[in-house]
Amino acid sequence: MSYLVIKDVEKSYGDLKVLKKTSLNIEKGKLITLLGPSGSGKSTLLRSIAGLESIDNGSIIVDGVDITNKEPKNRDVGMVFQQYVLFPNMTVYDNIAFGLKLKNMDKNTVDKKVKEALALVELSNKATSYPHQLSGGQQQRVALARSIILEPKILLFDEPLSALDRKIRKNLQVEIKRIQRELDITSVFVTHDQEEAMIMSDEIYLMNNGGIEQKGSPQELYNHPKTSFVAKFIGTYNVFSKEDFEKHFKSNINVKEVAIRPEVIQITKDNISNEEYNLKDCTVTDVSVIGNTIRYEVIKDGFIINIDVINDDIQDIKLGEKVNIFVPKEKCIFLEK
Ligand code: ADP
Ligand code: MG
Repeated sequence: MSYLVIKDVEKSYGDLKVLKKTSLNIEKGKLITLLGPSGSGKSTLLRSIAGLESIDNGSIIVDGVDITNKEPKNRDVGMVFQQYVLFPNMTVYDNIAFGLKLKNMDKNTVDKKVKEALALVELSNKATSYPHQLSGGQQQRVALARSIILEPKILLFDEPLSALDRKIRKNLQVEIKRIQRELDITSVFVTHDQEEAMIMSDEIYLMNNGGIEQKGSPQELYNHPKTSFVAKFIGTYNVFSKEDFEKHFKSNINVKEVAIRPEVIQITKDNISNEEYNLKDCTVTDVSVIGNTIRYEVIKDGFIINIDVINDDIQDIKLGEKVNIFVPKEKCIFLEK
């Protein structure tokens, strides 16, 4: 049996069904993310695991023990929120020690554990600082230390990095992963940012409207989206309706939509011969350099296509020029729904 099992959880607020028989199975020591747009039910599910929200139906099992009806404080679950919620009038040291002192642990043991936690989050030199003297990223490290020092069975993160600058966010993504692996602590991480989910997770559960739309490794979700919602959410896919695809590529297909990754489309100023899915005489309407790739937006009769190529310094396609494009058929992902 998985370490954390969430089975058919249902939750409504009045008439609004927020969780619709949602189920997850998470192995010990894994970090999974709940990814999804705002309002899809991520925080509600997380708060249900923590016991901050009661559920209408279903069960939550940790390490074989049914915790569905337990008080939050008896669940052995730690949580890190977007807001740092540290005690402003306590030092970093005292913030981290707080939970252990509540448990009446002796002073020497507390001291040893706080120092270990400080080292783990790389804040040993900030023990006597107050929260207002720390950056956002440092405050979030304190919040993390404060949770892990209690050795919870499950660690929950609700968009903990969303308020931080990109660079600090990237840094902390790697740090959280390192600490999570080092402690082998089963974790559920909520984010609405698909790139963050890709970087962080062993497995992603993509939520849509209170249900799990698709779950899988970052690789699986990126390479094999099963629905148009997934293809659109996971990234930069071109998603074409059946009608658009048939009209422009002059080809009949028997599905609802077609997803095509921008990097599989070929773009050239040369003539192209008889590739099956091609489009001639497109106009380049945008050229963006995104680090190691260049993204072209091209348009033909109002039909817009994004194409990525490696930025190898020999690309000579410019804004406003005419280009031909083609897509290898085996690279098209045909979506039934
Ligand atoms: P997410 O974290 O994915 O953005 P939430 O779980 O916070 O989504 O919310 C899911 C839905 O439930 C939203 O439509 C939200 O407005 C609604 N909701 C969340 N909390 C409450 C509440 N306490 N009372 C009423 N509706 C709520
Ligand atoms: Mg939320």
